[in-house]
Amino acid sequence: MSEAEDPPWSVAWTGEQAFRVQPSADFPGKLELDQKQARGVGQPIFAAVHVTRQRRGMVDLLCHVCGEPTAPGDRYIFPTASGGLVTLHDGSQQYGCNVPPMHRACAERARAACPHLSRLAEKPLSCGDDEGRLIERTDVTPGLEAIAAQLPKDAPVVLSCYRLYGDALTRSVLEARAEWEAAARERRGMRP
Ligand SMILES: [Zn+2]
Repeated sequence: MSEAEDPPWSVAWTGEQAFRVQPSADFPGKLELDQKQARGVGQPIFAAVHVTRQRRGMVDLLCHVCGEPTAPGDRYIFPTASGGLVTLHDGSQQYGCNVPPMHRACAERARAACPHLSRLAEKPLSCGDDEGRLIERTDVTPGLEAIAAQLPKDAPVVLSCYRLYGDALTRSVLEARAEWEAAARERRGMRP
């Protein structure tokens, strides 16, 4: 497999399709879903994130592409391709991201290699010094329906987590999205 086809660290493989429920070390007092780790066995499933690596990436701020730690000065996200606005109790909205951050070089490599990202023509955005607030999810997100149906019903199980970012980064994401939409309109105008 060439480097360009090397799937991101967070992506699940067909050889990893086994799950169990265990007490969570990251969210004490809660249960969490744990997925078998056998990266490289079978085929990568590009549309599926690995449950345990996604959680490790979000909790420890490990790079989505290479799995190594990211430092505050070298931590990036794709603002259009990942995450969305979360409405808080007071009605305000903040940007939430469920894809682990990336090193700048890894983001550029992913952009060149990933058909979805290169079609989006998206620039990576720096998280600056905003680490976001880690939030766990026990509701069923797309792709986890079949697994969730087999889980115990008497206690909530942490299935995934995301980071909720502050006002400044939320503004930067909204600006990047508006800029991207304007560029997309222009591209469409040039090629009707
Ligand atoms: Zn990386």
